[in-house]
Formats: sequence, structure tokens, C-alpha cells
Amino acid sequence: MKITLDDQARAFPTQISQMIGQNIDGCYQCGKCTAGCPVAYTMEIPPHEVIRLVQLGREEEALACHTIWLCASCETCTSRCPKNIDVASVMDALRVLAFRRGRTEAEKEITLFHKLFLQVVGRFGRVNDLRLMGKYNLLTWNPFKDWRLGQKLFSKGKLKLTAPPVKGLKELREIFQRVQASQAEKS
Ligand code: SF4
Ligand code: SF4
Repeated sequence: MKITLDDQARAFPTQISQMIGQNIDGCYQCGKCTAGCPVAYTMEIPPHEVIRLVQLGREEEALACHTIWLCASCETCTSRCPKNIDVASVMDALRVLAFRRGRTEAEKEITLFHKLFLQVVGRFGRVNDLRLMGKYNLLTWNPFKDWRLGQKLFSKGKLKLTAPPVKGLKELREIFQRVQASQAEKS
């Protein structure tokens, strides 16, 4: 069924299409993306319905839903879609838009985790689990979370106080700075 939207509602699917480089009008709600999604059971709105919200220009609901933050970017949905719709990229685009507009209320802790992850990688060139999880637990007021597990991993040498240096750290930091500058321009 062809969907007719007014200009205001049309702006949202158009923006998402521009961000992912693909038109998603072709989605006919077969649900194959949702059927293959390994975390669909945790979502209040399954992936195919998020696509529908975008098609209908229902921006508020799409940006406020938990689903976009629970998506693990595994791309199973994308590989299963009979219409070749890149569902995983739609989820990405929705997260980016939600983040730019400060609409992270649905899953504040997941957003915090993303931020800290990028901070650690941007600074050291790789993930340092101890630093990442320590900071995350402190900022979520749960400093002793996973303490016992951490102790076990530490005693087996699986957690390190410092991460080994990486090659090309200077170049990596420059990439991060360029991305941050470009994000700041867009927001
Ligand atoms: S698999 Fe593709 S066509 Fe089917 S509901 Fe998902 S996005 Fe739409
Ligand atoms: S990319 Fe996200 S929405 Fe798609 S199958 Fe994986 S977790 Fe589910």
C-alpha cells in the first residue's frame, strides 16, 4: 500500500534515507528482520515496526524507543531482508539522530557506555576493560558491580591494569578529532 505523508512527516524518512544512502519505502512489513534479530525479545518495538515508524514519519516515537539502543548492530536483519533494506543502518541513523538531539532518555546507561567506550579507544587506541568498566560502574553509582568476576579475571591475567601500546596511536587520535569536529558541525 502506498503511503502518503504531508511534507512535515515526509522530512523524517527522507532524512533517514539520506543518512543511510537508501530509500526504505520498499519495506512491506514481512517481519523477517525481526524474526532473525537475536535481541528482539528485549525490545518493546520490534525492528520491522521501527522501520514502519520511520516510513510513517513518526519521528518522536522512533527516536524515543528503547529498541534503537538495544540493537547490537549484528546486521542479521539486513542480511535477511528480501527487499535489501539495511535495517541495521536505519538503527544506526536513529541512534545518531537521537544522540544529536539529546534524546537519549530511553537508555541513558547504554549511551554512557558508548561514550566511555569511544573515550577509552580514542585515548589509548584500544579498549582497556578495567578502565572502561571501572569508570562506567562509578558513573552509574554501582562501583562494586562485577567485583568478584573482575577479581577472578584479574587473577587469571585476563584483566590488565594497562593496555599494551598500539601502533599508529597519533593517527588514530587525529581520526577521532576529525570525526568529533565533523559531528560538532552537524549538530
Ligand atoms: S525484512 Fe525487510 S521488508 Fe521485511 S519487515 Fe524487515 S525491513 Fe521490511
Ligand atoms: S542489527 Fe540490531 S535490529 Fe538488526 S538483527 Fe542485529 S540486533 Fe537486531
